[in-house]
Amino acid sequence: MKNIRNFCIIAHIDHGKSTLADRFLEVTGTVERRDMKAQLLDSMDLERERGITIKLQPVRMDWKSGDGSEYALNLIDTPGHVDFNYEVSRSLAAVEGAILLVDASQGVQAQTIGNLYLALEQDLEIIPVMNKIDLPAADPDRTREEICHLLGCRPEEVLAVSGKTGEGVTAVLEEVIRRVPPPSGDPERPLRALVFDSQYDDYKGVVAMVRVVDGKIVRGQRLRLLATASESDNLEIGFYRPRMAAASGLTAGEIGYVVTGLKQIDSCRVGDTLAVAGNSGDPVSPLPGYKEVVPMVFAGIFPREGDEFDRLRQAMLKLKLSDSSLTFEPERQQALGFGFRCGLLGLLHLEIVQERLRREHDMDIVVTVPSVAYNILKTNGETLTIKSPLELPDPTHVRQIDEPWVRADIICPRRHIGAVMGLVQEKRGLYRDTEYLTVSGAAAGQGKDSDRAILHYEMPLSAILVDFYDKLKGVTSGYASLNYEFVDYRRADVVRLDIMVADDPVEALATIAYRDEAERVGRRICRVLRDSLPRQQFQIKIQAAIGGKIVASE
Ligand code: GDP
Ligand code: MG
Repeated sequence: MKNIRNFCIIAHIDHGKSTLADRFLEVTGTVERRDMKAQLLDSMDLERERGITIKLQPVRMDWKSGDGSEYALNLIDTPGHVDFNYEVSRSLAAVEGAILLVDASQGVQAQTIGNLYLALEQDLEIIPVMNKIDLPAADPDRTREEICHLLGCRPEEVLAVSGKTGEGVTAVLEEVIRRVPPPSGDPERPLRALVFDSQYDDYKGVVAMVRVVDGKIVRGQRLRLLATASESDNLEIGFYRPRMAAASGLTAGEIGYVVTGLKQIDSCRVGDTLAVAGNSGDPVSPLPGYKEVVPMVFAGIFPREGDEFDRLRQAMLKLKLSDSSLTFEPERQQALGFGFRCGLLGLLHLEIVQERLRREHDMDIVVTVPSVAYNILKTNGETLTIKSPLELPDPTHVRQIDEPWVRADIICPRRHIGAVMGLVQEKRGLYRDTEYLTVSGAAAGQGKDSDRAILHYEMPLSAILVDFYDKLKGVTSGYASLNYEFVDYRRADVVRLDIMVADDPVEALATIAYRDEAERVGRRICRVLRDSLPRQQFQIKIQAAIGGKIVASE
């Protein structure tokens, strides 16, 4: 165990995580140069194309260190997006150290900080590294200052690399060996392994990616997942190199995979604990941190052609096999026909599902405007969570409606602070405070133009759903970055806004709006409809109504 190092790389999207991982694979000889393609650990086409990491792919590398010893280095490449915060937190729980990677041409960004906090919560050893020092636009001095300000470290502790040219890459591996502690855990105790991800393989069924905390996994044992109480076989175990390579066993401290023989990814959830089944003597306690993630965002997905519903259902079931966070149930809407109401972790997740339906299943689909999950307390004391505006009960039966709020951190150059504040206020955000990324920035008034600030807000998730990110990029000339995380549910004064065309309510256009904005929103929708509906020889009434009362008409 003393020659094992488990670590991950955390970074803002595009700061070069996957590229640096590629260099690690190369210098350790894990992948032959001729087999190398860019962003090797990004397993989906979509990820490689968009340059984002969605699914983590762990890898084990052998490295002969300058100190003369051989080490097994286990790297987990984590997704950098807020939608997958829980997954990220579980992979962080599987390792002892994190490389904090910052693009020297961009500096510290919102997700850098968001991920850093997640890593600090897990008590990880943080190794600060700045990347892309080969770029002419790189500003290593400022980036180093920002990192030191953030971590409270000394400037010489920040390593400088280029994932592109390979400069400085082996020094990072040596630093990992020097600073990241070897795993602890007891190989003699009963088996406990953390499932930090699971995958569905067409041939092998559900494959669990695990970090063995205590004990050993050996082939042929019958296994049990503690949270879902499902039992499984243990058909094959091994390491990722980065392809699956079977091994005879995994011992405390190691990271690898278990082919479970399970057919449903639902029974092998991220964060669950894998133990030996039927261990009657001394029952093991589950590892901490398990959580069931609930969808926060809902959207309808409908086939463009009505007769494609069956094919869409097949496709959704197939997607669900590899995506345990996706939920869906059938829904019928007048205008759109039969489709599904889908529950998702956030907007990126929705986009991924959409793209995968298009690419992997060749589906032509219509997606409705996403909405958040509202919690309703009815006057009879009943509570429910609604997934669509149509489910909102009659106002006379509603005592209280709560909506999800998030803590949002926005990083932007100081000259854009005013514009960002205006935008967030318009979206009902509550300002908390401002921090500066550098010491010089904190000295108000004498900051340089390159100084940047972190604005901390709390705001309703619904405000972020529609066009917030685009607007934020707009008012800051593209310089702002955003990170947010769910905090709690708070009281919302909202109403259902119905749209009627020729006295017929159009279900697909119903929305939930804040009471004090509802009229304005209604008028706007009516006006847009007036201009976009095909002209007729007779008058057609277009109306917006709240609880039966007409508030706008065209
Ligand atoms: P990730 O989202 O953090 O995984 O980032 P990627 O590894 O996908 O890199 C994002 C983009 O930055 C890609 O176009 C890479 O080719 C580029 N990139 C990564 N590292 C470097 C570097 O050191 N120098 C330069 N010039 N480009 C880099
Ligand atoms: Mg990546």
